[in-house]
Formats: sequence, C-alpha cells, structure tokens
Amino acid sequence: MKHKFQLLSPHILIMHAEHETDRPILAAILGERRTLLLDAGNSPAHAELFRKELSEYGYRQPDMIALTHWHWDHTFGLSAWDLPTVAHEGTAEALTRLSGLDWSDEGLEGLAVQGIISDESILHIRKEYGSHRTIRFMKPDIVFADKITIDLGGITCELNHVGGDHSADSCVLYVKEDNVLFLGDALGPSVYGGPRQYSSTGFLKLLNLAYKYDAQWYVESHGVPMSGTEFRADLASWERLARVVDVFGQDRERVVLEMKTYLKLEELPKDLQQGVEYFIAGTK
Ligand SMILES: [Zn+2]
Repeated sequence: MKHKFQLLSPHILIMHAEHETDRPILAAILGERRTLLLDAGNSPAHAELFRKELSEYGYRQPDMIALTHWHWDHTFGLSAWDLPTVAHEGTAEALTRLSGLDWSDEGLEGLAVQGIISDESILHIRKEYGSHRTIRFMKPDIVFADKITIDLGGITCELNHVGGDHSADSCVLYVKEDNVLFLGDALGPSVYGGPRQYSSTGFLKLLNLAYKYDAQWYVESHGVPMSGTEFRADLASWERLARVVDVFGQDRERVVLEMKTYLKLEELPKDLQQGVEYFIAGTK
C-alpha cells in the first residue's frame, strides 16, 4: 500500500485521500517564509493527522489556508487550524450559510431532502464524526472573486476560480515553481441537489484549462496525483465522451456505440457507463 504521506515535489508535501470517510488530499506548500495548507480537512481529526506528520518531520506548520470549494470534506477541519483562510467569495457565502444549519443526526436528513448535501455525504459524516458531533464553522478571512496570488517566499501559488458542475465556487491552485496543479474536485460531476450530472461543454472548458497549465503533476482531491502524461491518458476517454455527447446529445445508444468503437471494446467500463448517464443528464 502506498504511504499516506508523500513529498510530491520539492516544496509540496501531501497526505493522500482516504475513501472510507471521504477525506480528500491535503497539501502543505512550503515556501521560505510561509507554509500554505490546501484544504482544511474533513474534520479536526483529519487536520490533526496532517499536523502531526508535519511536526514529526520538522516541516513548518501552515501559516494560512486556501480552500478549493465549500464542500464539507474540504472545510469542516477549519476550526482545528484556526488560521487566516483564503477563499473564493462563493465559498465564503456557502460557509456562512452552512454555519446556520443543523448538523445533528436529525438535521442531516433534512439537509439531504433540501439537496444541500447527499445521502453519501451523510454516511461519511456519520462515520467520520460518530454521534457526538459539534462542527464549528469558520469564515474565510481573505475573499477574492477571480484569482489571487500568494507569495510564500520563493514559491508562488495562484488560486484561480474556475467554477463548473461540481461546485460553482470551485478553484484550482497552481504552484508555479514546482509546476503542480491542484484541481480540487473541479472536474467532478455535480453531487448535491439531484442526480449527478455533467455538462459536456462545461467539462471540456475545464479540461482545456487544465491542459493549458501543462503541469508536471495534476492533483485531483480524491484521486492519486498524476503526471502530465498520465493525466492526459486518464482523461482522454472522458474528453471523447464529452465530445460525443456534444454531438449526439440524448441519443444514449449512439453515444455508447461511438464510445465502444473509439475504445475498441465490446462493453464500456463501469466508470464510463456511469459517465454516459451523468453527461446525458447534463443535456437536459
Ligand atoms: Zn467536492
């Protein structure tokens, strides 16, 4: 099994994602003067694990936090750090809204009905927190609209708002000197408020933007970091699928046939079968 922590590039230490309770990748970006933490963790326990690792290996603890988007698994750890936090204005608004909600067991059900979170998130929150749950919300301290640059001392981080289906406030973080792009969940489908869906045009726009960085590493929050070549290979069939849906819209049979021909397969792999459904849902 892969080690939980990895020095991904000279100035970036990451803690890998865990799927059991939907813990996303956390990253410490180490400048000469400051350490920036990317995403706060899904709970104080998640945050604590990373803090411990940093201190064990003598890395400078985070001085500030940047958020990729508001979703619980990326933000509920904020209170454990209590640090200046940089976030998109949409993230700030969403977090303000969340702080007024009821996160008890009974409350969670209501939030799912309202489409604020999903049943899957509820399961994960229950597992991560147990039944005694006090979630303390923190408001971001520095809020931006389009992009913001953070100078950590010799290391430049650009936080860029990109939006997309997954969450309208989605941002990507580019670490210039190490040529690493953190995508958050920006390439994912929508997850809250109805069936999961992708808009083919929106997806292609984001993918194009990601390719333009020509990064050495691409990091999706719930995946394993990929080299530029791996990323392109991994996304190729999804890009194709989005293009096919752009042309054939809701003609599911045709979409599947085009994809089978393209991949030279008798049957589409599970994840692409699901992808077909997400994209078709996105045409409606
Ligand atoms: Zn998310």
